[in-house]
This record gives sequence, structure tokens and C-alpha cells, in this order.
Amino acid sequence: MNMPKVTRCDATECSYNMQNVCHALAITVGDETHPRCDTFMSVGKKGGDMGATAKVGACKVANCRYNQSFECTASGIQVGPEADEADCLTFEPM
Ligand code: SF4
Ligand code: SF4
Repeated sequence: MNMPKVTRCDATECSYNMQNVCHALAITVGDETHPRCDTFMSVGKKGGDMGATAKVGACKVANCRYNQSFECTASGIQVGPEADEADCLTFEPM
């Protein structure tokens, strides 16, 4: 299984976000019901690895068609504001 890349994130207020790229090494998505980026944080300073683009390390949203055993099988995901300030926009309910 390959970890899918976060190809774009529009939650620019997140500390891991620089010019719509997520620089966390890996993110976790969701609680059991909502596909929010659980790694989002806004602490007034930027962080992460500027040489890296984040991948999806784990996803708790079992009712997404891309979710297999709490891992994401999409080829890549996009994150941005929807119901929450940083939601997985690639989420597709089953
Ligand atoms: S909201 Fe999530 S995907 Fe977007 S930059 Fe922050 S940690 Fe990365
Ligand atoms: S596409 Fe689905 S399985 Fe992948 S991170 Fe988003 S909500 Fe989780």
C-alpha cells in the first residue's frame, strides 16, 4: 500500500501550510463521522519539513469509498474548507 500524497491544501492558516502545500510528513484524516484533517493546527508560526509534501498516514472515515481498513487508497487527496476549515475534499461517501 502506498500512502497518497496531499496534492493541495487550501487551509492556508494551518501551521503546516506554505503556499497551498502541506509540509507535515504525514497527516491523519477524520474522526469516525467527518473527513476533517485531524493534523490541522494554527499556532501562529509555520512548521513541518519544507522539503517534504505530506502524505495520508491514516484515515478514520470508514464510510469513504477510498477507505480500506482505515487507510486511504485514493491516488492523492485535496484538502480545503468545506463543512470545516480543513476537510478532505476527495471524500466520497459510500
Ligand atoms: S490542514 Fe492538514 S493538509 Fe492542510 S496544511 Fe494543515 S495539516 Fe496539512
Ligand atoms: S479520500 Fe476518503 S479515505 Fe482518503 S483521506 Fe479522504 S476521507 Fe479518508
